[in-house]
Amino acid sequence: MGSVVLNHVYKSFGAVNVIKDVSLNIEDGEFCVLVGPSGCGKSTLLRIIAGLEETTGGSIDIAGADVTDLEPKERDIAMVFQSYALYPQMTVRENMGFALHLARRPKEEIRSKVDDVARMLGLEALLDRLPKELSGGQRQRVAMGRAIVRNPQVFLFDEPLSNLDAKLRTQVRAEIRDLHARLKTTSIYVTHDQIEAMTMGQKIVVLRDGCVEQVGTPLELYDTPANAFVAGFIGSPA
Ligand code: ADP
Ligand code: MG
Repeated sequence: MGSVVLNHVYKSFGAVNVIKDVSLNIEDGEFCVLVGPSGCGKSTLLRIIAGLEETTGGSIDIAGADVTDLEPKERDIAMVFQSYALYPQMTVRENMGFALHLARRPKEEIRSKVDDVARMLGLEALLDRLPKELSGGQRQRVAMGRAIVRNPQVFLFDEPLSNLDAKLRTQVRAEIRDLHARLKTTSIYVTHDQIEAMTMGQKIVVLRDGCVEQVGTPLELYDTPANAFVAGFIGSPA
């Protein structure tokens, strides 16, 4: 099903190597967090998985098929960005249904799918509003709804909470985990925030300067950090 496998992936921009020999195995249904300092290559890696950046070397499998040379729209993934990525001139309903509209799904099907997902996310009462009429947390839920409606094999999240205040961040974090518990869609979640990584990840991948430093559960990273960088970054006493 929706596993994601990276085999010796490299990416350079001109002479600058940004991703250096990254291999990862994210299992179907797993919630995996990519964490590392700003500039270490998290967004680039996520964009490579989405097909928004070409690799310089290596290959990517999604759900058991090699997608390395496929366009983003040919990959069965949906990306959740920060909440401002909504279409400002479209209502919540139109935002959420847009991908299905582009895929030329019948109007009735789009309507009932959007209704279902809106109910799941508590957005029923907001379907006719514009993004500017919503709070930050509501916008973030619409951004998630837009991804869920497509029913993809894999969700990719790139620092989706960075526009929210601390209280809301804690709340939406829990909502994302609840959603994953319900849908069991393979998810790859990027953050530079160690606390967010430790509270959300089933599997955590620590990146530094384009390289994987360690892969493990929160407990493994805390108890047996692979090196001083991981220990310092995660905050364990080793
Ligand atoms: P992160 O998301 O971890 O903060 P990024 O993946 O955005 O890191 O960036 C990793 C490195 O790659 C940075 O040094 C950044 O400047 C560089 N980079 C990212 N995108 C491009 C690009 N399109 N052209 C040149 N350099 C880039
Ligand atoms: Mg980034």
